[in-house]
Amino acid sequence: MIYLFGAIALLVILDSLRGYLKAKNKKRYLIQLFVGLPLIILLLFLFGPLFVLSPIKIGYSTLKTDNITLYYPGNSIDMAKDTMIQLKQADEMNRQLYKTTYPMPVVLAKSEFDMLRLGSYPYAGGTGSELTINIRPGRMTTGRIAHEMSHRNLAMLTGKSIPSPNWFNEGLASYIGKMDAYKKPNELQADLRDRRYARDILNMRGILGSAIWLKKINIDKAGGVLYGQSYLMVKYLFDKYGQDKVYNFVQSLKNNDFEKAFIQSFGMTEEQFLQEFTNYIQNYTD
Ligand SMILES: [Zn+2]
Repeated sequence: MIYLFGAIALLVILDSLRGYLKAKNKKRYLIQLFVGLPLIILLLFLFGPLFVLSPIKIGYSTLKTDNITLYYPGNSIDMAKDTMIQLKQADEMNRQLYKTTYPMPVVLAKSEFDMLRLGSYPYAGGTGSELTINIRPGRMTTGRIAHEMSHRNLAMLTGKSIPSPNWFNEGLASYIGKMDAYKKPNELQADLRDRRYARDILNMRGILGSAIWLKKINIDKAGGVLYGQSYLMVKYLFDKYGQDKVYNFVQSLKNNDFEKAFIQSFGMTEEQFLQEFTNYIQNYTD
């Protein structure tokens, strides 16, 4: 999310510079720029993706329990209370692994348009980033909310907006949300046999890798395999090494690069791990 804003900011600056160089009346252009730019930024805070950070939230009320702050449209207190029950359960599912809680701002979006202006994919039931969780009430299971919360928690814990490679970030989120419906091991085995299995999943990291990840989901329609495979990879880590070891690994991401921390915790590289996991899937029997 931060990178997206950064890219937009850069575009705006470059475009302003181009406008300045082309402008005939440079003084007037500058005045227009200095009035127009703060106005756009103000709108981003009041009604756009930075809404959650804005001290003024027009038409919204606040419901707060412990670390969760829920911003909901003014008159929907019943909807907000129902959602808060789910949020608390989802928070508890996260607490079991993260062993701590971070401030969790949540914005209720009532429509596709709301999701879009808040910077989320409009048709999603919810999204999570380092800034906030945006959710559509009634569209999210508690498990899926827990998934989105994990994204924010991992970002908060590591202090990075891309806290880990996608396979681990998504896999951990799905593991915490108990989202085992994507793929069973025997289904992933069929994907491996029919070459749908993502042998290149480790490359999908960083900004560029995340773009590939999004392309695979939205254009290649490979979301089921990617999320299922990620979930089963992380579940394999938990089953083989135990919750404490994975927890210590997650904690060590605070001060270490992912690759280095992985080797230290599990005694092998990610490549070696993927090979081991692939063998497990290949030889899986019910
Ligand atoms: Zn996710």
